[in-house]
Amino acid sequence: MTENKPLSDVERIKIESNYLRGTIREGLADTLTGSISADDQQLMKLHGSYQQQDRDLDEERRKQKLEPLYSFLIRIRVAGGVATAKQWLDIDALADKYGNPTIKLTTRQAFELHGVVKRNLKATIKGINATLLDTLAACGDVNRNVMTSANPWETEIHQQVYDDSLKLHTDLSPKTTAYHEIWVNDELVEGGEKVEDHEPMYGKTYLPRKFKIAVAIPPRNDVDAYANDLAFVAIVEKGKLVGYNVLAGGGMGTTFGLETTYPRLASVIGFVKTEDIVEAAKAVIIFQRDNGNRSDRKNARLKYTIDRVGLDVFTSAIQTVLGDKLQPAKPFHFDSNGDAYGWKKSFNGKWYFTLFVQGGKVKNDDKLQLKTALCEIASVHKGNFILTGNQNLVIGEVAEEDKAEIDALLSKWKLTNKLSGLRLNSLACVALPVCGMAFAEAERYLPSLLEKLEVELEKFGLIDDEIIIRMTGCANGCARPFLGEIAMVGKAPDRYNLYLGAGFSGDRLNKLYAEMVSEEEILGLLIPILKHYSEERLSGERFGNFVIRTGYVKETLIGKDFHKDISLVKYVPEK
Ligand code: SF4
Repeated sequence: MTENKPLSDVERIKIESNYLRGTIREGLADTLTGSISADDQQLMKLHGSYQQQDRDLDEERRKQKLEPLYSFLIRIRVAGGVATAKQWLDIDALADKYGNPTIKLTTRQAFELHGVVKRNLKATIKGINATLLDTLAACGDVNRNVMTSANPWETEIHQQVYDDSLKLHTDLSPKTTAYHEIWVNDELVEGGEKVEDHEPMYGKTYLPRKFKIAVAIPPRNDVDAYANDLAFVAIVEKGKLVGYNVLAGGGMGTTFGLETTYPRLASVIGFVKTEDIVEAAKAVIIFQRDNGNRSDRKNARLKYTIDRVGLDVFTSAIQTVLGDKLQPAKPFHFDSNGDAYGWKKSFNGKWYFTLFVQGGKVKNDDKLQLKTALCEIASVHKGNFILTGNQNLVIGEVAEEDKAEIDALLSKWKLTNKLSGLRLNSLACVALPVCGMAFAEAERYLPSLLEKLEVELEKFGLIDDEIIIRMTGCANGCARPFLGEIAMVGKAPDRYNLYLGAGFSGDRLNKLYAEMVSEEEILGLLIPILKHYSEERLSGERFGNFVIRTGYVKETLIGKDFHKDISLVKYVPEK
């Protein structure tokens, strides 16, 4: 629904693209520039790639009268986050050959390669497809990688839920042949210039905006179910998976200064049996396809559609499609949204090890040779690697007889070193230098801020306490900052908005506490609160709950209240 306003230009681009073809092939062949046309940049997202430029080098290149150093991010879908050891090695080799060379593990269980220049794009995406992974629908106005509670072998229920997630992944993927034609096959699939595809669910214009689905298994909310457009929460009765509660309308992104935009927690709308999960997903997607705002992309996500039409109207529309299949929701409870680290045993008798990956960045540096270490592990590992929704990695399906060898490699590469509870619960987006939206650093800066906070946490006896901290370079919300008990969102170079008070299990938004603060101000504001927390918290009280109970910020349970009841503080240094 566009309320008679003109369609956004992205809608024109999709309509004219002949099912995502545009002029991508021609743009790739143009060797005079490292970029592609603005229209094709929009379409490329649905092929899993963003054009970026190295902003660290912009000034120097401008002086030399060179165009910016363009390169491409490539996001690789990994259904349920599960990749084989062979796939790990193949992706690592592609990162070395064509990327910068690092692998980013995203907050949606995908791989990202960065720094791929245009002339290598096709070889890289073709190489990814050769590993039996793909990049289709990893970004853009379509359903993206379906997130699933990490480790399908944790319990039998996890295995069943993983299988249901794979059904969602497959059934909700776009059906255009353009992807295969451009990146894999080299041939026009039907042998002619004007191939007419058919998108039975999406239609020619796909969705008004990105669409995110997660599947969670209580009590762990390691996929941040409430942050998704659509989430399914597994309901287990008498030890059996009976179906899923359906949650709709979550999303993190907001725009500074625009109060019509806000993060929103997904609302619980009902319950469906296991066999109805795909039909339920399609009903919600089609509602959004037909009712989402296609004029204003800042108000196009499902969360705004639901708040515009009303949750009752939305739910009854879904009920009309699903009939008796949409039943009243069943009780469930989450107790955390982080990962459980270290060695654990699966229901099938095999072991798995959950490894913290700072900022999801798999690279080698002076402190840690993580990339080399994981390649060495992958070369002997007979099981899988599972990307978690918290940018971490599970080394899965380790047989009893292989555990000692993997353990020795983890120790050899210092991957079992003790880390603070704050660090283990930290997330950061990519931000500078490559994200064009970033106002400030995130992934490159958060580790050093954590070091400074850890000195204080040690003094306060909080070093092992789990506190969720998140940092992003802008308010788009890629690392789900508004679900951080502590969050910093970049607003200008070296300046952040500081938010406090989200729920430890991802069920409450945080609230703006201080605006445009520097590192000195962040530390000056946070350290006394952490000290206060160490002294006066109630038994078992989480940091996010503490800052609300003691009045630092007001509780925020619904998105429309995100901008209300804000009392900003200013840091005044001691003289
Ligand atoms: Fe870029 Fe903003 Fe997303 Fe960070 S949150 S990766 S800065 S768009």
